[in-house]
Amino acid sequence: MFIADNLAQIIENINISANKASYIGKNISDSVKLVAVTKNHSVLAVREAIAAGVMAIGENRIQEAIDKAQGLNACVEWQLIGHLQTNKVRQAVSLFDMIQSVESERLAIEIDRAAGKIGKRQDILMQINVANEDTKFGISAREVMSLGRFISNLEHVRLCGLMTVAPFYENTEFARPIFREMYQLFMELRDANLVNTKVEWLSMGMTNDYIVAIEEGSNLVRIGTGIFGQRQY
Ligand SMILES: *Cc1c(COP(=O)(O)O)cnc(C)c1O
Repeated sequence: MFIADNLAQIIENINISANKASYIGKNISDSVKLVAVTKNHSVLAVREAIAAGVMAIGENRIQEAIDKAQGLNACVEWQLIGHLQTNKVRQAVSLFDMIQSVESERLAIEIDRAAGKIGKRQDILMQINVANEDTKFGISAREVMSLGRFISNLEHVRLCGLMTVAPFYENTEFARPIFREMYQLFMELRDANLVNTKVEWLSMGMTNDYIVAIEEGSNLVRIGTGIFGQRQY
């Protein structure tokens, strides 16, 4: 029951923030996509969320996602939001509709190869480490255009936008400049009109900071705790 209630509250907040973004001309699409992050939560909990209207699932680990997909057998979208090792690429490509965590030419090449083998065009986002944190994955802001150009030449990969995990701040106002910079990078990439790309998603905002992220132009938020409660590790 609490999952449906949490979800309703979050959707209301998303709509309020999206209206604000729209009012100041910062929305890049008509609506904001909610990806429910289900890592460390049971199939039962995920099923409850789907029944309450969740349509896209975010997972960090390949094996956990595969197990969950089999257990659920539901018609939902799967998004990989965690670090991807090259030896897991084949499995990732066979399950995920979107891989949000691409951060190197090498990884992009492996994805291209695996997707080509099964006749798929794999949608991906580039992960950006805007704040240059040592502990986070992702390319730096100044590498966006060069990696973007590289990926646009791969036949079986389609670049669809950018993703970031902002540093955690108790006061989320501190994250605002980071989201602003991401929005700029996104606009630059989109306006470059690289061949074979479809730059339409700016994935930023988690339970702690999604409101600010949407106000600054995010159109894809990844929310776990806010829907399912604290994760048990
Ligand atoms: C776990 C995770 C989330 C969700 O975090 P919450 O704080 O639980 O909403 C979003 N994005 C990524 C990349 C994550 O690893």
